[in-house]
Amino acid sequence: MATGSDKNQRRTRAGSKSSATSKDLCTICSVVIGNDTLALNCDHCKLWVCLNCSKMPKSSYQELVKCDKSFSMDWLCKVCKSNKSDLRSISCTLSDLKSSCDSRLTQVENRLTNLETTMKDTVRSETETMKSELAESVNQIVETRLKKWMTEKIVLQTLFSSK
Ligand SMILES: [Zn+2]
Ligand SMILES: [Zn+2]
Repeated sequence: MATGSDKNQRRTRAGSKSSATSKDLCTICSVVIGNDTLALNCDHCKLWVCLNCSKMPKSSYQELVKCDKSFSMDWLCKVCKSNKSDLRSISCTLSDLKSSCDSRLTQVENRLTNLETTMKDTVRSETETMKSELAESVNQIVETRLKKWMTEKIVLQTLFSSK
């Protein structure tokens, strides 16, 4: 995070190339953030919020200003904070959705596997039935033909023997 004191540095750096008319405003109350304004810089949108609007106690702010530059603490403005929590809830919803999709997919896969097994069993038993039925009818045909032939043979034999 950056505080008003960091802003002084930033200002002097930017001051050489940007015009003096470019002014930072508090994103909430639109007060001009001057070099001596107590303000906080959002670490996400890089916009300024005056100390009054930030709701941060002045004592905490002064402690932060005293902190070493290497000490980094993220400070987010109200908008970014709510966006962040929105994002978090969206990501939660997405992961919930994903796990529910995953479990549904597993269910569907299981059902498909079951269906496949059932189909295979059905086809196998149907084939067996058809095979035995076919064998039976072939037997019947052969038997009928054989009987007919035998009868014809007997008739012929009788005819010849009678002569
Ligand atoms: Zn303000
Ligand atoms: Zn922000």
